[in-house]
Amino acid sequence: MNAAGTQVEWNAVSLNQSNAVSGTLALGQFVLHYQSQVDSVGQVLGAEVLLRWLHPQRGLIAPGQFIPLAEEAGLIAPIGNWVLETTCLQLASWAMQPTLSGLTLSVNVSSHQFHQPDFVERVSQILVQTGADPERLRLELTESIMVRDVDDVVAKMSALRRQGVGFSLDDFGTGYSSLAYLKRMPIDQLKIDQGFVRDILTDHNDAAIARMVIVLAESMGLSVIAEGVETQQQRDCLAALGCQEYQGYLFGRPVPVKDFEAVLLRAAA
Ligand code: C2E
Ligand code: MG
Ligand code: MG
Repeated sequence: MNAAGTQVEWNAVSLNQSNAVSGTLALGQFVLHYQSQVDSVGQVLGAEVLLRWLHPQRGLIAPGQFIPLAEEAGLIAPIGNWVLETTCLQLASWAMQPTLSGLTLSVNVSSHQFHQPDFVERVSQILVQTGADPERLRLELTESIMVRDVDDVVAKMSALRRQGVGFSLDDFGTGYSSLAYLKRMPIDQLKIDQGFVRDILTDHNDAAIARMVIVLAESMGLSVIAEGVETQQQRDCLAALGCQEYQGYLFGRPVPVKDFEAVLLRAAA
């Protein structure tokens, strides 16, 4: 698979946008992978839902290679709606299974998608149509969302929060970090970016930033999760700094939903 090929393909797609994307969706070429999020004793609290494009010739394509292109081509809304709908259907089906009903699913929402004028209505509609419990859904936003129209962002988040939907601030500390905006955002969780976790054992600055995010979250009454945790030493270092939730290869790679469910069902049997 190569990025240039993907670019050419999306340029072609953008010529006939809605047909092409609905075609891709209808062909079932998008799939969702689930990556565990665990607590301090390793119990699975839920998963982050990660989008992949299952290309018939090129195999699995990571989102970093097609989401920016999809945004440029104006295709992020239908793709994002499909991700939300599929996730909510999953939550609704888990609601009937005791081992899985308490899980929370985190869905990435791009800034472009969030700024769609009908974003709140679409999410509400999907929740009603699928019957998913809004309390089990968490939306991951990045700081880039705050670059424009903060009042509108806060209003949209508050409207969804009133329905029970949670919010996490992804890649925290890597973007447009304004603590003044952070104070206004009705979020539940900060996510320590994997860029600070990678060298946390050797780089004092990374460790200092991770500690600062953990203390900030604590004092604002938010939970905090570290992503990209690959080794036990990284996990222990984060734990010593006060972090209590983790995500990363140490606990599980992103996998198809059947594999994710199988591990939990086996553990409960
Ligand atoms: P993200 O939300 O920060 O997701 C975390 C990324 O880190 C994922 O890459 C995940 O596979 C990877 N990862 C997880 N654990 C580890 C680890 O231990 N080590 C390392 N090195 N990497 C790890 P992925 O799946 O390629 O996704 C990349 C980005 O694409 C995501 O970053 C997110 O911003 C975006 N994305 C993914 N799915 C969606 C989606 O449905 N909608 C939107 N708008 N964006 C999405
Ligand atoms: Mg994320
Ligand atoms: Mg992230």
